[in-house]
Amino acid sequence: MSTRLDADPDRIDAAAGRVMARCDELARVSAASDAIERVYLSPEHARVNRLAAEWMREAGMATRQDAAGNQLGRLDPVGGGRDAPALLIGSHLDTVPDAGRYDGIVGVLMALEVVRLLRVPGEEGEWHSPFAFALEVIAFSDEEGTRFGKALLGSSAVAGVWAEDWWTLTDAEGTTVREAFLDFGLDPGRLGEAARRPAELVGYLEAHIEQGPQLDRRGESLAVVSSIASARRFQLHVEGQARHAGGTPYDMRRDALLGASEAALAIERICRAEHHIIGTVGQLEAFPGAVNIVPGEARLSLDLRGEFDGERDRVWDAISRELDGIMGRRGLRWTSRQVHSAPAVFCAPLLQDVIREGIVATLPAGTQTPATLFSPAGHDGMAIGAIADVGMLFLRNPDGISHHPDEAVSTGDVALGIRALAESVLHLAAEPA
Ligand SMILES: [Zn+2]
Repeated sequence: MSTRLDADPDRIDAAAGRVMARCDELARVSAASDAIERVYLSPEHARVNRLAAEWMREAGMATRQDAAGNQLGRLDPVGGGRDAPALLIGSHLDTVPDAGRYDGIVGVLMALEVVRLLRVPGEEGEWHSPFAFALEVIAFSDEEGTRFGKALLGSSAVAGVWAEDWWTLTDAEGTTVREAFLDFGLDPGRLGEAARRPAELVGYLEAHIEQGPQLDRRGESLAVVSSIASARRFQLHVEGQARHAGGTPYDMRRDALLGASEAALAIERICRAEHHIIGTVGQLEAFPGAVNIVPGEARLSLDLRGEFDGERDRVWDAISRELDGIMGRRGLRWTSRQVHSAPAVFCAPLLQDVIREGIVATLPAGTQTPATLFSPAGHDGMAIGAIADVGMLFLRNPDGISHHPDEAVSTGDVALGIRALAESVLHLAAEPA
């Protein structure tokens, strides 16, 4: 089989145009009238799954919604092969509040176009995968974790790593995950049916906007992703003494807010001096929070990400030592509680290679090799990595703005991404099993 895609450019441009139009159509499915918001197990989730299923059927795929609300479409190999392992290609359809229209969504719609470019007709006029493996498009249902505060619920179910205590997580209205399943028409007792076995999967490929400015700064359209960042999150608590704002001289103050502020600046300084370590203090609160009281207590969050688990942990140790010093000098005490930890997930070398070859196929001859970037943002591949090799392709994100209504991607880059991804699948199929 040829490893070059035989598709004329007009067809790929039409595919990219369809992706952009469908991103617009999905953006209208929102819980908010003036913004995009689509959370797990909501009526909007059901509506986008129905639309995606319609488009999958139109592409000749057999469709199903799995036991965790993920939407799937499948093309079996020529000659049946109902049990053939599948190459999963996709991303997610849920969003953050006040979202853009491309994060996740564009990857699902591109996967659909890749299948349309690669599929071959069968004798009865139905469509097939031309490979020894099936092609499956997957639209994950909860990558962002907006509703229940726990990300990757949809892909974790597919990976078979669902934790029992997730059933009792609640949303802002107090609805539990279990109740939301029932309201959505899903049976919590059958969740295990969403899990896939490693033997069923050839791998997982995902195209996603970069959510950062690296490609935009380089003036390039596409990149190979090397890994998805490791992350740890902490709640830090600083304790001093609340006292009268007027009567307490500076040498007697144990101001918890000033200690927390100095901590936030130290975190920035330490992380900036590192390569590929990002630390963010996104929450900072002072107590009792009165205008005329020296703050006796402060709470702050820390989100720490890195390309490698070891570096990330070393930086946390450095931050801890620095905070010991700051708090000691100010007569404060501090404690930390880790609330989240995820190891880095490395994209499979073979899938990185085929994606690189796919991108090279879109470049003029003699152009430099495409960029390889690590992803500081989380993705469904973090969960799927437990059961399958993961490969990711990034699309340029103008100005690197994401999780915001101004999030953008160009039709031209989507066309290049579709071609690169289709070429990647052809290269993968040509690899000896
Ligand atoms: Zn995403």
